[in-house]
Amino acid sequence: MEELDYYQILEVSRSADKDTIKKAYRKMAKKYHPDTNPDDQDAEHKFKLCNEAYQVLSDDQQRALYDRYGKAGLQGASGRSGGFSGFDDLGSIFEEMFGGMSGGRGRRSARDADKFPLDLGVELGISFHEAVFGCDKEVTFKYKSSCKSCRGTGAKDAKQSTCSQCGGKGQVYMRQGFMTFSQTCPACHGEGVMPSEKCPDCKGRGYEEISESVTIKVPAGIDSENRLRVSGRGNIGKSGSRGDLYVTFQVQSDKHFIRNGNDVYLEVPVFFTQAVSGDTITIPSLTGELDLKLEIGTKDKQQFRFRGEGISDVHGHGKGDLIAQISITYPAKLNDEQRQMLYKLQESFGIESKPHESVFEAAFDKVKSWFA
Ligand SMILES: [Zn+2]
Ligand SMILES: [Zn+2]
Repeated sequence: MEELDYYQILEVSRSADKDTIKKAYRKMAKKYHPDTNPDDQDAEHKFKLCNEAYQVLSDDQQRALYDRYGKAGLQGASGRSGGFSGFDDLGSIFEEMFGGMSGGRGRRSARDADKFPLDLGVELGISFHEAVFGCDKEVTFKYKSSCKSCRGTGAKDAKQSTCSQCGGKGQVYMRQGFMTFSQTCPACHGEGVMPSEKCPDCKGRGYEEISESVTIKVPAGIDSENRLRVSGRGNIGKSGSRGDLYVTFQVQSDKHFIRNGNDVYLEVPVFFTQAVSGDTITIPSLTGELDLKLEIGTKDKQQFRFRGEGISDVHGHGKGDLIAQISITYPAKLNDEQRQMLYKLQESFGIESKPHESVFEAAFDKVKSWFA
């Protein structure tokens, strides 16, 4: 079989940034996801490849190894011996994409399975401030509870009869030439049985939906895409057991602070005279104010790092840094007096009005010689 490069699999360039890779992965994974391509082996294979490619390219260290040494580099260094198992490795990205957990509890036969997964996923938007400092937050969500009157079957009095279309097999077969294809029965969705009559309590759905609120403790340092498990607050199945609730966070961005992992960036406008003279200025920090001592001749885009002034690591591994990036501003207009002062200043540094004549003397001569 042909071996596609991870970048080719995700259809991105080798220089693609993390965001581009993530977007490409979502697009490809959606396209080839087994839910949208039932019983399609080719799609399933491609889906696994996308997953494998993303695991490597989304991890800086693994990506660097892969770029230098290819797949061989990954096996040697990371100690994971080709541990790409496809479906079971899916991270939060899928729950977020499909709004729930897809069969996280292993495959059961269609007949005694619940009509829905027991684990439940919800998204929760929080402000930048709440994410940085942590908070108590109420989450309101709807969970499914298996209908008691029909025991989750959707059939009145739980009376089901054998599906007439597939004869109870759950699969239908189609012949095309000398080939036979099997397909999940469209009438009973693979269950092999159908309700004789719809359950009046749940209108044949097999469950009811119940609203609930729970207050969760959001730890300081939480970031977008982070998930928190709330034990025993998911859907309730036929057996009465309840799954878990998974809360995925979406953190709003701040007007001034830009987050990158546990570090925060702050753009600091500095008037050119302050930069030239190495002024000390006051800048906002996450907890108050900081004094920033500029260097004489501070340059545009120059960065100053304040260790430990960033965001607390959500797993308790210390704190990130605050990085102040200078943006030098110049006056757009000058009045006569200011112009005079600036000329005076320029003169005091011994700058002539045609400085290039002395600095580039040799260059001027060279250019002249080209045309001589
Ligand atoms: Zn059927
Ligand atoms: Zn019912």
